[in-house]
Amino acid sequence: MAVYKCAKCGEKITNIEAGMIRCPACANKILYKVREPVAKDVQAR
Ligand SMILES: [Zn+2]
Repeated sequence: MAVYKCAKCGEKITNIEAGMIRCPACANKILYKVREPVAKDVQAR
């Protein structure tokens, strides 16, 4: 699931429909795509 962040107010948007990319808080259309941190499985020995 892609996560976007508003370039204006920093609101995180997780549910985005294709062609309807807009911040729900301030209606800004410029969003950054945010990569969610991937938890790596590292086994301690
Ligand atoms: Zn915003």
